[in-house]
Amino acid sequence: MKIDKDTVVSVQFKVADAATGQLVEQTREPLVYLHGGYDNMLPKIEAALDGQEKGYETTLTLQPADAFGVRDDSLARTIARSEFPPGVKVGGQLEGRTDSGEPHVFHVVKIKGDKVLLDGNHPLAGRTLRFTLRVTGVRAATAEEITHKHAHGPGGHHHH
Ligand SMILES: [Zn+2]
Repeated sequence: MKIDKDTVVSVQFKVADAATGQLVEQTREPLVYLHGGYDNMLPKIEAALDGQEKGYETTLTLQPADAFGVRDDSLARTIARSEFPPGVKVGGQLEGRTDSGEPHVFHVVKIKGDKVLLDGNHPLAGRTLRFTLRVTGVRAATAEEITHKHAHGPGGHHHH
């Protein structure tokens, strides 16, 4: 079966920094997504996989704008440790607001003396990344998956 709109695709990922070759992420279980422009996958990756079948392997290099975005320095901020909720550590996340007041998740980057450095950028923003992809499965989506605009089942979306 070919990857087409409204198929559910299982894909193994390896993501490396294109500049340094450093491995930044590797899937243990395949990622399972509903294909066809539902915003479940980076558009460049969907385009590369479109029309391919199980077993297809490819490597593609994506610029920051096509991957996890360019860095937005207005999302990096320093707050006083005293304003910090207790129990949040480096590597943790907390909900804040952007300069325009939108709710946004910030990552705790560093705690330095009485200052806490937060960054609301995706951890991989600003990096050119090399994706190594292997398609491990393709199936037709169910009507329910199409209505929900995401894949269900193992590796997909779970409803509680
Ligand atoms: Zn659903």
